[in-house]
Amino acid sequence: MKKTCFVRIMCAAMIAAAFILSVLSFGGCSKKTESRVVPVLMMHDMNDSGDTWSISEDGFRRIVGLLLKHGFTPVSVDDLVSFVEEDGTLPDNPVVLTFDDGYYSNYELLFPIVKELEIPVSVFVKCETIREDGNDTPTGAIKKMNLSEIGEMNSSPFVSVYSHTHSLHGMNTNYGPEERESALPLEGESEADYKAIFARDCERAEEALGRAGVTEFTAFSYPEGKSCEWAEEVLAERGYKVTFTTEYSRDNVVTKGDPSSLRLLGRMNINDDATEEVLLQYILRAKP
Ligand SMILES: [Zn+2]
Repeated sequence: MKKTCFVRIMCAAMIAAAFILSVLSFGGCSKKTESRVVPVLMMHDMNDSGDTWSISEDGFRRIVGLLLKHGFTPVSVDDLVSFVEEDGTLPDNPVVLTFDDGYYSNYELLFPIVKELEIPVSVFVKCETIREDGNDTPTGAIKKMNLSEIGEMNSSPFVSVYSHTHSLHGMNTNYGPEERESALPLEGESEADYKAIFARDCERAEEALGRAGVTEFTAFSYPEGKSCEWAEEVLAERGYKVTFTTEYSRDNVVTKGDPSSLRLLGRMNINDDATEEVLLQYILRAKP
C-alpha cells in the first residue's frame, strides 16, 4: 500500500514536472518563432571580372556553400511575407539572396545554378533597360535580359522577379529637366508632384514586367538603396509588401503580425572579395 502510494506520488510529481517543463519550453519556442533576423545579400552581374558589382559563378557557389555550412537557409520574399502576415514559418537562420538590375548573366549563368541547387533568389529588374525580344544589345554594352528570359525565370519556383524602378535609376532626367538622384525627390519638389512621378514610374515598371508575365509586385529594391518616406507610402498604397535598401548596418528583424518589419530591409553587397570572415560578420552579427 505504502509502495503504491509512493509510486502514485512519484508519478504525479513526474507528470507535474513534465507539464512545467513543457510549458516552459513551449513558452520559449513560441517566443522564438515570433521574430527572425534575416540577413539579405545583394549581388548584380555574374562574371569573372572581379569588380565590386559582380560575382563569378564559382564565387556564388562558394557563398551559398558558406551559408549552408553555417546553418543558414535561403528563403524567398514570399516566405517572409507568409511568415509575417500569415501562418507561414521560417527556418531558424533564414537568408535572402537578391540580384539587382536585370543582367543577362542572371538568366545565362545564375538561373541554371539556382535550379541545380534548388535555392530561391529574388531578381530586381531595372525595367527601362529590358532588352526587346530578338534584339541583341549593341556590342560593348552590358547585356540585360529580355522579356522571354525574365518570364522564364519568374515562372520557375526558384526565381521571383520584381521591380528596381523603370526610369529612376542613377542620375536621371527622365521626368523633367532637373537631374534627379535615383528615385529621390528633387530639392523643393512637392509631395504631390513627387508621388505622381514615382507612382507613374511604378506603373511603367509594372507594365513592363507584366509583358514578361510577372503578376505579383510584392517587393521593390531602391536603386543605390536611396529610399524616402514618400516613395514608401506610394509603394505601400500599390500593395508592395517588402522593400530593400543597401544599408549594411541594419539588422533586419521580421516579426509575425508586423508588416512594417518587412520595409526598408538592409542588404550587404557580395562579390568575389567576400571572405568567409566578412560574410560571417554580417550574417552572424544579429544571430539570436
Ligand atoms: Zn541598381
